[in-house]
Formats: sequence, structure tokens, C-alpha cells
Amino acid sequence: AGVDVTDFIVLAAILIGTVAYFTKGKLWAVKKDTYSASQLAAANYLRKPGKTRNIIEKMEESGKNCIIFFGSQTGTAEDYASRLAKEGKSRFGLETMVADLEDYDYDNLDAIPSDKVVMFVLATYGEGEPTDNAVEFYEFITSESPSFSFDNDPPLGNLNYVAFGLGNNTYEHYNSMVRNVNKALEKLGAHRIGEAGEGDDGAGTMEEDFLAWKDPMWRALAEKMGLEEREAVYEPIFGIVEKEDLTPDSPEVYLGEPNKMHLNGTAKGPFNAHNPYIAPIRQSYELFKVKDRNCLHMDIDISGANLSYQTGDHVAVWPTNAGEEVDRFLDIFGLTSKRHNVISVKALEPTAKVPFPTPTTFDAIVRYHMEICAPVSRQFIATLAAFAPDDLAKAEMTKLGNDKDYFHSKVNAQYLNIARLLAIVSKGKKWTNVPFSALIEGITKLQPRYYSISSSSLEQPKMVSITAVVEAQHLPGRGDPFRGVSTNYLLALKEKQNGDPNPTPFGLSYEITGPRNKYDGIHLPVHIRHSNFKLPSDPTKPIIMVGPGTGVAPFRGFVRERKRMAENGQAVGKTILFFGCRKSTEDFLYEKDWEEAKQVLGDKFEIVLAFSREGPKKVYVQHRLKERAKEVNELLEQKAYFYVCGDASNMAREVNAVLAQILSGERGISEGRAEDIVKQMRASNQYQEDVW
Ligand code: FAD
Repeated sequence: AGVDVTDFIVLAAILIGTVAYFTKGKLWAVKKDTYSASQLAAANYLRKPGKTRNIIEKMEESGKNCIIFFGSQTGTAEDYASRLAKEGKSRFGLETMVADLEDYDYDNLDAIPSDKVVMFVLATYGEGEPTDNAVEFYEFITSESPSFSFDNDPPLGNLNYVAFGLGNNTYEHYNSMVRNVNKALEKLGAHRIGEAGEGDDGAGTMEEDFLAWKDPMWRALAEKMGLEEREAVYEPIFGIVEKEDLTPDSPEVYLGEPNKMHLNGTAKGPFNAHNPYIAPIRQSYELFKVKDRNCLHMDIDISGANLSYQTGDHVAVWPTNAGEEVDRFLDIFGLTSKRHNVISVKALEPTAKVPFPTPTTFDAIVRYHMEICAPVSRQFIATLAAFAPDDLAKAEMTKLGNDKDYFHSKVNAQYLNIARLLAIVSKGKKWTNVPFSALIEGITKLQPRYYSISSSSLEQPKMVSITAVVEAQHLPGRGDPFRGVSTNYLLALKEKQNGDPNPTPFGLSYEITGPRNKYDGIHLPVHIRHSNFKLPSDPTKPIIMVGPGTGVAPFRGFVRERKRMAENGQAVGKTILFFGCRKSTEDFLYEKDWEEAKQVLGDKFEIVLAFSREGPKKVYVQHRLKERAKEVNELLEQKAYFYVCGDASNMAREVNAVLAQILSGERGISEGRAEDIVKQMRASNQYQEDVW
């Protein structure tokens, strides 16, 4: 990467600033050495000019006494952090602020006075990993001896903290972020207030776990800090100003462009979670042979960007909401006639961040930046009750907000989104009293969706393929099916690209050509996320892959990579794929790929098939794995790598259990011992998972 003059100036300024801060006027040379060049480079990269990374300075200048750090990948942890901030302020008069872990340094956590409190809302990602924005913090706090600014003993003896984790119990390292951070903080002498909460996405109880955790936490915090609860009154965090001098045609108005470079037409890399690349889709086609279900293959061209990937990485797709849902949302809040009015959104308090660029329009915010179709939060329902259009609606909202079972049966079980729910509750009356700020605060930012790249970077380094099954669920008691945001957007793109004579009406409602037609010619905003799901560096090592359904995506990449290696004259090891689907005639993915691989790889490649709806009994990949126990064990003894991809909740867990049974049976050892071996395989990366 090029380093220009500004980088040097920034770097120099950081160096001076960092050294000055840590020494506080004493012992210049001592602490300086504790920063490696790479640490400084990383700090430099992350640092946004003009913003302090010093959390104490930030708290002091903004008069805050409660800081809520989040480590978030998909936006839920960030959303929970905002909700804690809001509640702390409205119920207890705390001066709260939300902070992205990536935006601050942590070496002065020891200098936070004991009359303040720090909250950590931390999601665990993948195989027990921190989220991207929490990597540095996690490494720092869990390191052997984190280097703090003072020589306190214990180092964090003054720090009061609160912790909540977001995890998924179907993963081996359930909630390991919050557990490990909590342990580390305790070890450093910090004082936890309330329990360290754990939300479980695997059991589908995340929201309820959060709600159940926070009330006792607030009580404990109120007692510890001597806070008095007051009647919560809604105070907007964002101010909305109508800009009558601007129209959607004014060049400075954002119509969905993610940032200034995209607005000006000067988008350039690095392309990442803050800056997507608007990539052309080279081709897209249907993989299923049935009418009522869709699975898409898409080839996305990244040659125009300075982007690279490795086989096994993920591509993030930035979706747009379907027009049908955007219309429904604007309608229920009485915003339809104003949808194209230009507004400027400003944070009314200095530490809040407007989650999208402005000036913009209501239409653009709802279409491009808000997760309007997501599950509704019960806490948000209670907030909205105050703005109900009549007493009946208010009573119903209060009941929904207070009664978790009632809420579940009425809202979640029907997969209702916020606009659908409000329309039912008010019998169609508009919710014009809801401040737009409450919607910005209460609805998560629209998130990119990840897809396991299904191509090989050896074969096509500048084109990523995805394999995505389209989410459409028919639910009893609901007229139209529930449709996933991103996959139906992809379906609409495919229909448009192929000139489908019968495109789905829902798909047609998407604004396919993007803001100011910038996605025309079939483009899709994407970025690449690197993963640890990788082929062995030694191609002669055997591999066993288990990937039913779309779980086969990365394995198409793996198999194509080994095929290409063989074509290049390289020796490759045994390559076995366990694939499962319903029927060979319906949803058998990439049949031709496997035949071609067989032609090149011969005996080195084998696909083992499980069709669940063809025989008298349902057969799944884990059954086939068990039938091959002897061979699986032999390959593992030859240090085969074992890969699982796809459904996290059932399949991956069962495959894990079956593998332990295989080892136990074949090696004549106890199941407990076999389970330990599987754990060791995971720890040494011999067993890798890419599950969702
Ligand atoms: P969304 O709108 O996000 O809905 C997803 C689910 O959320 C729904 O099925 C439903 O269960 C729930 N939900 C949403 N809204 C509501 C509501 N209002 N009420 C109740 N429940 C609701 N998918 C693939 O097809 N292929 C891949 O290769 C692939 N790889 C992945 C790799 C990783 C690392 C990860 C994390 C995920 C991967 N996924 C993959 C899944 C993918 O990211 C998306 O989650 C999936 O495509 C659905 O996205 P969507 O926007 O269409 O659905």
C-alpha cells in the first residue's frame, strides 16, 4: 500500500500524541518501546483524522459518565448498545455514550474514575472469534499483561463494568467473547456490576435473553451508583430538518450512496465494511430444477477494484429493501407524500452518530439504510406504544411489550416486520405521531449479508461466485410469504439480467438500478471478508468436506481449486465431498462440476450423496458419513482436514457428534476421549467450520 505525505504527518502526530499521553510528562523513552511498528501502523490506519482515540478525553469533553462499547458484526450488538444508552439516560439520567471498540484505545481504561461505568456489548463471531471491530481490543485485554498508563495494583481496580454477550449455542465456543473478556477484566481487578449476560441466537432467544438480563443489571447499577429511577420520557437523539432549498436532484443529496466518494462518483478502495465496491454481475442463473424454490448462482466481477480473495473467503452483499416493504413502511408512518423531501439529520448530542450520510430523503433512508423487515424488538414496541394513534392501539402495544408469550405468538411466529405489525395493531390507522428520530434509534442499520464464495481464486482470481438459496417461507395465517431481504434482491437482479418473461412482482419492486442509476447494467455493492476456512497448504493432504444444500458453496471452490492444481500437474490428495439435498432431480447443486472434477481427478475425487426425499427413509449427510466410518477414520489418521459448511443449528452439530462416534468406534476409545480428539482437531484447524 502506498504511504503518502499525509500518512506520514498523521503517523508523526500520533507518535508524538501517543508518547505524550502515555508518559504524562514523565519517562519519555520507557513506554515508547512498548509499541511495535505494526501496532502503530494499525493505529494509524484506523485513526480518523481530527477524532480523539482517548476515551477519557472524549468522556470529559462530552460530560459522559457511562460509556457503552460494542463489538458488532451484524449490527445487533451495536443496536443493543444504543438501547442501553437510551435506557440509561431516560430511566436513570445517566450521561451515556455508545462507542465503537475500533474507534478508541484501551490502554487508559485504568484511568477511568470509579464514579463512571463502562459497558461491553460483545458479539462472538464464527469459531469463537471477536467481531472485526473488536479484534484489537480483544487481543489487548486478553494479553498476558496489557500495558496500561499507570502502575495501579490491580491494574483495573477502579473500573466498574457491565457485560453482555451475543452468541449462538450451536457453536463450539459459545459466547466466548464475553466470557473471555469478563475473565480478563476480573483478573485485572475490575468490578462487574450485575451478571455477565449471555444471549443465545441458536435458541432464538437473543432478544428475550437481553431483556431478562438488563433489568436486574439496571437495579444493581442503580444501587451501586446511587441512581434514582425516574419516569422515562422520550427524548429524540436526532434532529430532522427539512431542507426546502434542496431537491433529490441536488448533487449534494444522498439518494442511497453509502459515502461521499460514491456520491461524487469517485469511489475508490480500500473497499471494506464501510465502503462497498459496486461490482458488475457477469452472469446469474438458477440452480434448482423446481418451480417453487430458488437457488442462485452469481458471478461477480471484482477485476475493476483493488480487491482480492482466497478460496474459502466470504463476500458481503449490501442489499436494498424491496420497494413493496419501503412503501408499506412509509405509508404506516404517514411519510408517503414526503418521501422525496430532502432532510438533514443531525445528532442532538455530540457522541451520537447519524447512521447514514445526509442530506438525504426519507425514501433513501428507508430503502438503503434501515433493516425495516427484521424481527421486531419487544422493547421497541413498548417505546412506540406512547405514540399510538388511539387508545386501543396503545393498549395492544403495551400488552405486546409486556407479555413475551403473547408477543411471540402474534409477532415473531408470523414473521411480521414493524410496518406490518403496526398496521395490524392500529387497523390501518397511520402512526403519524412517531418521531422519525425514534425510528432511526429503534431500527437497526441495514446490514450486508455474507456468502461463502463458491469459486476458486486459483481458477478465477478476479471473479467471485456465490450460491444463495432464496428465502421465501409460507406461513399459515399469513397471506403472502415471508421473503428475505437480500436473497430476493439477488433474485430480482437475476430476473432482470436474464430478461425473465415472468419476473416476480415482489422482485420488480426493488430499485435495481440503485441511487441515480449507479447500479445499472446489473451491479451489486459488495466487499470481501477474509476467513480462516482454508484448504491445507499442502495439496497432497486428504480432505473430507461435509456440505449439504448451500453448504456446498465453498466446497465447489475447493474442488475446482484441486482440479485446477491437477491440471497444472500438481499432485493432490484424496478429496471427498458429502453432499445432501432433497432430490437428485430437484436441488442437486453443481452436478456438472462434480462430473468434470471426476474426469480430471479420477480416484482422487469422490462425491457421496444423501437425498433425503428419495428413499423410504430420510437420509442425511451425517448418515452417509457414518456408513464410511472406516475410511473417514483412516483418512483422519493420514491427517486429512475435515470441513463442515452450512446449517449451524442441526447439521453441523450432528456431524460433530457423528465424527466423535466414528473415532470412538474405529479406534476403540471412549466417546469422551473421541470428543476430546475432535476438540483438539478444531483447535489445530484440522476440523474447520463455516456455518450460519
Ligand atoms: P433475511 O431478511 O436476513 O432473513 C433471514 C432470516 O431471519 C429469516 O429466514 C428469518 O428466520 C429471520 N427473519 C428475518 N426477518 C424476520 C422477521 N420479521 N420475523 C421473524 N424472523 C425474521 N447463505 C447462502 O444461501 N449461501 C451461502 O453460501 C451463505 N454463506 C454464508 C456465510 C456466512 C459466514 C454467513 C454468516 C451466512 C451465510 N449465508 C449463506 C446466509 C446469508 O448471509 C443470509 O443470511 C441469507 O441469504 C438470508 O438473507 P436474506 O437477507 O435473504 O434474509
